Amino acid sequence: MAIFKIVYWLVIVGQIVIRYPWQKVWRGADKKVQRVSQTERVILSLLIVGGFVFPLIYSVNGWLGFADYTLPAWAGWLGVALAAISLLLFALGHRDLKKYWSPSLEIVEGHKLITSGIYKYIQHPMYASQFVVTFAQILLLQNWIAGPLGLVCFIPFYFVRVKEEEKLMQETFGDEYRKYKEKTGSLFPKF
Ligand code: SAH
Repeated sequence: MAIFKIVYWLVIVGQIVIRYPWQKVWRGADKKVQRVSQTERVILSLLIVGGFVFPLIYSVNGWLGFADYTLPAWAGWLGVALAAISLLLFALGHRDLKKYWSPSLEIVEGHKLITSGIYKYIQHPMYASQFVVTFAQILLLQNWIAGPLGLVCFIPFYFVRVKEEEKLMQETFGDEYRKYKEKTGSLFPKF
């Protein structure tokens, strides 16, 4: 159904709108540490290919039509619910991380460790948001290529990024970070 494709693109637009003011803050920030390795560039490109380029090809023309599948309507609506949850996590992550958000790994002047709001429960709400949206993508973009590619591309991103990010946090915040990490989950809260 066309509505499901539209919902997928509404999530992408929503992410851009939520991130826009923080992107401006990030551009003007005084960066103390910047870690943009070749691997980092590759994993970020993967996210764009899986979450944007192939969904766009699928949505605007019939090239991928040979690989379409049809799910029952309830599955599409489940995709809509996951899309909404994903956008909520994304908004909460930005609300709480504020000026410490960056597209790749960075430490800014006066960087503080955020442990409140959504970060009280999970260390990676924005990556959790991306993880949830890849499931929504499978249900909303009903195509064997455009649907699962988001998840396929997210998996290497997640493992490479989280390992490097946690290393940077540990180096910067030491014991404060170790204690925080003990109490919180990565993508899901610890019970
Ligand atoms: N992993 C987080 C943040 C992604 S943005 C999430 O998924 O929500 C990446 C930047 O956020 C990194 O450069 C790091 O410096 C910063 N960062 C990550 N966790 C942080 C925290 N708890 N407090 C302050 N900065 C953090």
